[in-house]
Amino acid sequence: MIILMGVSGTGKSTIGKLLADRLDLSFYDADDFHPPGNIDKLSKGVALTDFDRQPWLKKLGTNIIKWQAKGGGVLACSALKESYRKLLTTIPGDQITFVHLKGDFELIKGRLAARTSHFFDPSLLKSQYRDLEDPTLAIQISVNQSQEEIIQEILNKMNQKTSFGIIGMGVMGQNLAINMAGNGTRLSVYNRHVPGKEENIAADFANAQSHLSIQGYDALKAFVDSIATPRNILLMIQAGSAVDITIDELIPLLGKDDLIIDGGNSNYLDTNRRDQHLAKHDINFIGAGISGGEEGARKGPSIMPGGSRSAYRRIAPILDGIAAKDINGNPCCAYVGPEGSGHFVKMVHNGIEYAEMQLLAEVYELMRNGLSMAPNSIAETLESWKNQGHDSYLLEITINILRKQEDGELLLDKILDAASQKGTGGWSTEAAIKLGSPLNTIADAVMARNLSAQKTLRVSANKSYGEIKKRIETDPDDFINALEEAYHAARVINHAIGFDMINEASDQYNWSLNLSEIARIWTNGCIIRSELMSDAVSYFGKCNRLLLHPKIVDTLKLQQSQLAMVVGQALAHGYPTPVFSSAASFFLGYVNGRSSANLLQAQRDYFGAHTYKRVDQPQSESFHTEWISS
Ligand code: NAP
Repeated sequence: MIILMGVSGTGKSTIGKLLADRLDLSFYDADDFHPPGNIDKLSKGVALTDFDRQPWLKKLGTNIIKWQAKGGGVLACSALKESYRKLLTTIPGDQITFVHLKGDFELIKGRLAARTSHFFDPSLLKSQYRDLEDPTLAIQISVNQSQEEIIQEILNKMNQKTSFGIIGMGVMGQNLAINMAGNGTRLSVYNRHVPGKEENIAADFANAQSHLSIQGYDALKAFVDSIATPRNILLMIQAGSAVDITIDELIPLLGKDDLIIDGGNSNYLDTNRRDQHLAKHDINFIGAGISGGEEGARKGPSIMPGGSRSAYRRIAPILDGIAAKDINGNPCCAYVGPEGSGHFVKMVHNGIEYAEMQLLAEVYELMRNGLSMAPNSIAETLESWKNQGHDSYLLEITINILRKQEDGELLLDKILDAASQKGTGGWSTEAAIKLGSPLNTIADAVMARNLSAQKTLRVSANKSYGEIKKRIETDPDDFINALEEAYHAARVINHAIGFDMINEASDQYNWSLNLSEIARIWTNGCIIRSELMSDAVSYFGKCNRLLLHPKIVDTLKLQQSQLAMVVGQALAHGYPTPVFSSAASFFLGYVNGRSSANLLQAQRDYFGAHTYKRVDQPQSESFHTEWISS
């Protein structure tokens, strides 16, 4: 059943007859089913009430069941309100196509004025526009074109499948949909239906974006059926069990070679598992890290897809089209590697981000409290750092935050000092333990957030111990200069730690990850884009270990003492600097060719007979000592 709807004067009957002819269907005009009382009212210019319409719509609803049983038909019916359309939907929703014929008020008024034989009084037009509730699931057609063009557009839109689907119309899903459709992709979108709570979310969103080619669905099967095969479906939903549940709902609806892309922040271990699960159903799977937040999603995110390479090739033009562009105009999107490697890399991205944010918080605390600098002056100092090769998205937003006033006061001062987190930092730490990889700065940034969240405990400890923080009395300019060097050194170390873990995972899981390419897709669109990241692209082209690159070695040789000095001063004056301290200690451990771990091995062997290796014997041999002579 096709129902042509819209206000009077849009040509529902004329177009309806033509369309019915073209499709070899029967045509029905809802006006022919009005009871005499309604026709009388309409011809006298009296608007029908909902009460007047009820029996008429119900009769049409009953007829629709009969017409559909006879093979369907085309019905011209104004169906202005959602409640009217509900009364007409007496057969399953996917067996009815509403086509909304649209025109602006002046155009339709002109058409109605030219009519002579119709009982409709043009003065009712205004009330029709007032009553019109834009349909959520209709094909939208402008009547400001020839009849043939209208028919052709309806046929095209009815037959055309979309080329991409998005599930989850939250912050990210909506913005990616606008980005994608704006880039020319015909989209289907779906959001879960929770009666009374989450209804018509996707359809309402699609309607609000009527200038874009987006079809919104409230029913999963209709959504899947609307996408051309092999289907590409992006999940932008909450990570965790919601992804498993949605995948399980999709599996029976999908076919061979269809592709599910999980664009949320899923744990890479879950992505590995889902990859294997879907392979058993011949369904392709990609776990794609997406970074850039709301603005990135809308204007160009950084995208890190991992999983099926052949399926990736199919969607690469779509993802490349919406991604941010690097300095050479290339998309900040590249195939990362197999299985959960895309989500692994995104997880480490977020880990680096945690530590970068914490470093800026430590810089702020040292300047604000240690040096008693005003927020504006801190912002100015950080502004000057931007020109010293430290520019980054996170530095820029920090400067803006330091200038944001509310009622003449700094908004930052009104924000509770208890940091939240969603998990990726913690997962990075777990992954580091699994891989046996050091993750000092990132793990300490996670722990700093954990400690910050214990606000009540901290306040009571502060009472017990009294205020320990003291003003840093060294020359402020000297300290700020040292802080700038230390900031750079700590950032380099933090990036090196993150990339080293990616390298480790690549080796252990046989992923063959390309660090230079990963750095490149992080040069724009994502939260950790920075000048340092742009430099890292070429560093990794030559050397997989950032801290061993000759240029970095030269820089850190000079800066490491400033880093140590800042940490020393900070701790001596009562300022916690978890990530600065962690970076400094990691660095000293990293360059320590002969560490004290020999003592650890001796202790392990002492109490647990765990054995040890000797520097004066081949490494293949293990030794045990009876440490206490009997
Ligand atoms: P959001 O605004 O909270 O939206 C979450 C979406 O998931 C909604 O459409 C929600 O549907 C759906 N959902 C929640 N529980 C569900 C369930 N049990 N079954 C089916 N659908 C369910 O979140 P978001 O910010 O768009 O994030 C989406 C994903 O992208 C997350 O994995 C997030 O970690 C990741 N991500 C977010 C950002 C960011 O900056 N926001 C950046 C990168 C990645 P309802 O509306 O029906 O609840």
